[in-house]
Amino acid sequence: MTLSARPLRARIHLDAILHNYRLAKACAPSARALAVVKANAYGHGAVRVAQALAPEADGFAVACVGEALELRESGICNPILLLEGVFSPDEITLADRAALAMVVHCPQQLDWVLAARPARPLQCWIKIDSGMHRVGFAPGDFQQAYARLSACPHLGLVVAMTHFARADEPEHPYTLVQLDAFGRALGSLEIPCSLANSAAILAWPQAHRDWIRPGIMLYGASPFADAGAGAAELLPAMTLESALISIRELGPGDPVGYAGRFVCDRPMRVGVAAVGYADGYPRHAKDGTPIAVNGRLSRVIGRVSMDMMTLDLTDIEHAHLGDRVELWGRTLAATDVARWSDTIAYQLFTGISRRVPLVYE
Ligand code: PLP
Repeated sequence: MTLSARPLRARIHLDAILHNYRLAKACAPSARALAVVKANAYGHGAVRVAQALAPEADGFAVACVGEALELRESGICNPILLLEGVFSPDEITLADRAALAMVVHCPQQLDWVLAARPARPLQCWIKIDSGMHRVGFAPGDFQQAYARLSACPHLGLVVAMTHFARADEPEHPYTLVQLDAFGRALGSLEIPCSLANSAAILAWPQAHRDWIRPGIMLYGASPFADAGAGAAELLPAMTLESALISIRELGPGDPVGYAGRFVCDRPMRVGVAAVGYADGYPRHAKDGTPIAVNGRLSRVIGRVSMDMMTLDLTDIEHAHLGDRVELWGRTLAATDVARWSDTIAYQLFTGISRRVPLVYE
């Protein structure tokens, strides 16, 4: 819904998301892929993204029942996995009715599953804490948890899964430590396995196994600090764009914006774009953060305000009111912009606020 004629929108390139999903599948040709569409498909609009992927997707992964039900209500029939499982026994009833698979990562969830009386067999993904040390059964507790689960009469598919802490560092040995811990927890058990997020899909082929779980790569951002390890073929799926709403000439010594963080060191032309931190642009963007005007690279100067931000037009010839300003997208990689605010593309995408219209193309 467009809330106003403010010249700000996030263009969502659905064809790019489909391309990126196919790329993930091509990286791991013998695996099936759950497209991770939690957090409103990382800010891209879960329903529209899932509808675009549904004809090809082996399934979807979301964080919670509410996110899954939104997809079911929009007509999505593909398998859906709850990545954090259920938060109460009542949610098992909802999951059963909506045919949702669920992660089981702790003894309490295991008890709820065992006590449930579902109408159809429950699909459970049992999570092993191979080294993230967040959630999951310790490797030494896995076999007992699995034995209890698999003895349960109302169980269908059981998948063993884990999540990597440092797969985005292709040189770092910690992913090997986690692979080893996962393998030792499984022992001789032969059940389907799922380990790989985007970084592991691109950089750790030994982690591909039966199910991959691509998230950030679907949206065209590299999970790595740079574009390495195959990420260069990803297509950006979101272009956040605004327009110049003011242009002024300032002189040496003139401060720009709140607290006068930036001070002109020469005669400068300063532009104002209609986008600010209330839209999801990071307030901590440093002076020098890349920004594009009419496809030409410029830089953010001055502190980002709630609804506006200032940029340097001094070296951009022929910039006019109404000209297009790209915050990130096809000209500027979100990962590069994020770095200037000490954050990651995940946070930029998921931080887009509801007053930014998503325009699908
Ligand atoms: N699997 C799990 C369990 C996750 O929590 C996430 C995202 O946080 C993903 C897969 C997707 O990760 P990425 O976006 O890095 O591909």
